[in-house]
Amino acid sequence: MTHSTRLGIIATLTVLFLAACASANAHPSPTAIRSPTVTASAVASPSSALTPTPSPGTLAATPRPSTGLTKTIYLTFDDGPNPMWTPEILSLLEESGAQASFFVIGENAKKWPGLVEREARDGDTVGDHTWSHPNLTALSASAAWAELARDKSLIKVLTGKAPSLWRPPYEAFNGSVIASASGLGMKMQLWSVSTGDWQLPGTQVIVLRVMAALHNGMVVLFHDGGGYTRTETVAAVGILIPELQAAGYRVVALPAQGIDHGSPLEVGIRDRGALTRRGPDAHDTRSNLPANNDLG
Ligand SMILES: [Zn+2]
Repeated sequence: MTHSTRLGIIATLTVLFLAACASANAHPSPTAIRSPTVTASAVASPSSALTPTPSPGTLAATPRPSTGLTKTIYLTFDDGPNPMWTPEILSLLEESGAQASFFVIGENAKKWPGLVEREARDGDTVGDHTWSHPNLTALSASAAWAELARDKSLIKVLTGKAPSLWRPPYEAFNGSVIASASGLGMKMQLWSVSTGDWQLPGTQVIVLRVMAALHNGMVVLFHDGGGYTRTETVAAVGILIPELQAAGYRVVALPAQGIDHGSPLEVGIRDRGALTRRGPDAHDTRSNLPANNDLG
């Protein structure tokens, strides 16, 4: 498939997807596309999100120097490492000179330490996603602290560097948990856009959720573990990286200080929601997984 053909398909699917979104919110995912500017720009001009020029043929024919990438996007992956899917994502990143960020679960990092080492070697950011992926707000303060501290310690051993960022499982956090993490020297890093990949919506839907919301500094949530398959995630990343680079985006790892993309009000809404429902990081499929899933 040529570049221009692919862009055409994506543009068409974007329109279909946006139309479908209006009636397909049976499972609310308020952060799937939560920026008001995202919807407005995507509806007004879906093609503008795909390429900065009206001539994709020219783009395809002309080598794009990396110095021409003036915007930045942060792809982030939760719940790994996973021996099946993480290597595929790492290979895609390596082949395209891109970096990403991985919020790893300690239990998985202990099983597959080489993958965390490879992430660090590639220049990817490795963040703390707790030791066993509990809802931290349901634990005592000391137990929540221990979940974060144990994962942090293993990451430091494997990468030679203590993580400076953490991400709450199930998007569940409160002031006590944030204080514990701060005491460990870690800042909470959420996301701008959730792909909902854990719900297995289809590769093209994952791609479209990113491209329709595309903006400079966007932090995108994927999962490289936590479910019985991440084939859609891997396929989507394989499509997205070249598309993003063609649109002028540097695909890079989160900086140590993280990216502040949400207002305090939005964080407050997230907090209340997390206490009453399971967020987009909930990957509910976990409870429905076959017995041989990697998380047990
Ligand atoms: Zn998670």
